[in-house]
Amino acid sequence: MSSKKDKEIEIEMINTKENNKPNSKNRTSPKKAAKKTSKKKISKSTKTLMVFICIAVIFMCCGIFFLVSNKAGKPVKSKDTQPTTTEKVVIKDFVGIKQAEYISTLEEYFTYGTSLCIRGSISAEDLTGIDINTIDKLSLVLKKAYTNEDGSIVEEDIEEFSLYTELNENKISYSSYEKINEGISLENFTDNEYCMLLKVTYNDGNTEYCTFDYEGKMEPLCYYTITKNGINQKIDMTLEKFEDKPYISFNVAESELPEDVYDIVLDPGHGGNDPGAVNGSYNEAVLMLDYALDIKAALEKEGYKVALTRDGTEDPNEKMAYTMYNENGRVNVACSTNAKFCLSLHLNSNAVQLSRGGIQIYYTYRGSESFAKNMVENIVEASGTYISPMLAFRVSDGVYTRAFSQSDIDSSRQDAVNDGYEPYNMTTDTDYYFMIRELGGKATNAYVDGRNARYGSNRYRDSRNGIESCIIEFGFISVDDDLNHILNNKDKYIEGLVNGINDWVKTN
Ligand SMILES: [Zn+2]
Repeated sequence: MSSKKDKEIEIEMINTKENNKPNSKNRTSPKKAAKKTSKKKISKSTKTLMVFICIAVIFMCCGIFFLVSNKAGKPVKSKDTQPTTTEKVVIKDFVGIKQAEYISTLEEYFTYGTSLCIRGSISAEDLTGIDINTIDKLSLVLKKAYTNEDGSIVEEDIEEFSLYTELNENKISYSSYEKINEGISLENFTDNEYCMLLKVTYNDGNTEYCTFDYEGKMEPLCYYTITKNGINQKIDMTLEKFEDKPYISFNVAESELPEDVYDIVLDPGHGGNDPGAVNGSYNEAVLMLDYALDIKAALEKEGYKVALTRDGTEDPNEKMAYTMYNENGRVNVACSTNAKFCLSLHLNSNAVQLSRGGIQIYYTYRGSESFAKNMVENIVEASGTYISPMLAFRVSDGVYTRAFSQSDIDSSRQDAVNDGYEPYNMTTDTDYYFMIRELGGKATNAYVDGRNARYGSNRYRDSRNGIESCIIEFGFISVDDDLNHILNNKDKYIEGLVNGINDWVKTN
């Protein structure tokens, strides 16, 4: 889907090159000056011939320019250019919506990282006269409509997304994701206005479309794609109605990133009065801030917009453990960036002296390990570090995830009783680490709502735009070999991390 876009970028780059050429017209070189004087000696007939040639050349240039600008194909986005008839969108005239007889219930929708997660259901009551057991599969279909040159309306299925389904008595539940970071990728849509419908395929091969209903008013969902070649797309998802039939409207348009929207947020661990783990004169807070500043510069060089949760200007007496949910605390600052990814940068430590430490990356318990695994592989390859042999919470080489266990939940309940507040509502699939859980919003069951007076609250806990968040433990500061490797190979670690992000952006 992105091939057209790539071409446009190429053309744009060529144009920029042309424009950047030094303007030779305004500069008269000594050689040219010499030519000017010698012109006087040219005969009249030669002069006429040259004028003729010049005019011919001008005409040819105009012709070439006309051909080139037509080849670009894309309607120019200047205000006074009319869009071509074939591009005109007549979304309200969708035949699919007009013919849709049934309405399914939209139960939940949110984004996590670059993934769109939609959950809903369709019940026997919705499908009057149809046996629910005759349904073979459900999918989400993205449709586009436009008027042809002869005025006829063309309706096209642009993309079909298969859904996970589960039949329970009289109801089929459907979902665009099994893991929250593996829903519909929002990174590859081309500019247009689309309509999203639920497609029902029956056992006999017949198909039908359903619209959506959502209890209460559906809040619009807004997503900005990651910056690629300096370009971003804005995707607006809203529930709209056509002749009383609700459908999901999906608008994609090129847009600059607003001031408060970033691609990536970096969170150097600890800070304030909390040095984190220590070995001799080295501490985690200082080392990870140093890494973060250089990672930010390296990612910005690649064109990404990067934010930091702290930059070292915080009060050295600040108790960061108690202020992380304040207005300027790391949780609210990270959430306010609307980034797609957050990387929390840490160093591990162990009370028992270990001979081997190694790298670990933690990711959300509700997601797949794909992002973390890709990142570990890239960092190990570039830096020459090694994978942690630690087995607790391990998923695969260097990749870890941790949810609340029942005993964690029990002790958290006990804390609530002791401190006199209503216990939080977590489950055994709620992430244990706050930077992973709280940045995911609805997707990860963020729950810090101010009921515990010692903390503030996460103002973004109900956010539908979850940030995919990982904790990178580069190595063990308590293991001398790890610490030396981290001190001496910063550029290589950073190169690996940047490769990890670039790889992900290229392949997703
Ligand atoms: Zn730490």
